[in-house]
Amino acid sequence: MTAVVARAPAKVNVHLGVGPLRPDGFHELRTVYLAVSLFDSVTAAPGDGLALTVTGEGTGGRGADLVPTDSRNLVWRAAELLAASAGVPAHATLAVDKAIPAAAGLAGGSADAAAALVALDALWGTRASREDLLGLAAQLGSDVPFSLVGGVALGAGRGEQVTPVLSRGRWDWVLGIAGEGLSTPAVYGELDRLRDAGRLPTDWSADAEPVLAALRSGPPSALAAALANDLQAPALALRPALGRALRAATEAGAASALVSGSGPTVAALCRDEQHAQRLAAELAGEGVFRTVRAVHGPVPGARVTR
Ligand code: ATP
Repeated sequence: MTAVVARAPAKVNVHLGVGPLRPDGFHELRTVYLAVSLFDSVTAAPGDGLALTVTGEGTGGRGADLVPTDSRNLVWRAAELLAASAGVPAHATLAVDKAIPAAAGLAGGSADAAAALVALDALWGTRASREDLLGLAAQLGSDVPFSLVGGVALGAGRGEQVTPVLSRGRWDWVLGIAGEGLSTPAVYGELDRLRDAGRLPTDWSADAEPVLAALRSGPPSALAAALANDLQAPALALRPALGRALRAATEAGAASALVSGSGPTVAALCRDEQHAQRLAAELAGEGVFRTVRAVHGPVPGARVTR
């Protein structure tokens, strides 16, 4: 058996409503995911036991410690989980090549886990059903089922219950990563703190319908008006420079800009591809962002490419 290569996309939450803290420690979410054209790839080859290497974004120089290369890596956990559920030995040599910056609110680790599941399913011939893979994905992390599904989807529960959603057309964005990674649990913790202190309203963006309507039929201006993220205020509180980054994006002509997930990525919505290319060039020259990428969505979820 030769090596199998799979890739999976980053995501932007075009709607992220965060409800109350549940007894299990997770928040109730109502989110709309959009998969965008920034992909990590996972190569799975035959091996003796598990071995893992990681190259690309977040692995050399600054931030090198962001992506673990041992059993803490979601790819490693995906391999152990699939092997256990299929009753096969966990033997594979895994190589992750990252284009998705780590701890950026873009679900890079989730993309890697989803790509690993489909690559190893092919390598090991485990023939897991779609439902089986979605179940394993939900055990690995709240965003992993969406990384499998891709496209546009409504996420409920803690985000792991995904329902594909109809969307017409293509949406162009500039992703700007402002500063070093932000910890997702820290941003949720700050949201709870601000709500408990009465500094943020406890009512939440439970209604995703405006974004869904804009995705069905609207021009970019309609989607721009409907974008919502309940984690934006706490992310801004922890990382005030994000405010400057959001302003830089709108002043440079973005239709709208919001923090992606828990940040620190700013997602700037553009009118079309040319606009996104121009905006990316302009923002790259401003020095507010560590990394700038023009992307579009929706794109498909995790799949074997070779
Ligand atoms: P979340 O999915 O929690 O919103 P995120 O999208 O902001 O997170 P990720 O790139 O998924 O960020 O990384 C979050 C953390 O997950 C990292 O700091 C790292 O410790 C851990 N991690 C585990 N496996 C991976 C992986 N393959 N790639 C990146 N990070 C990983």
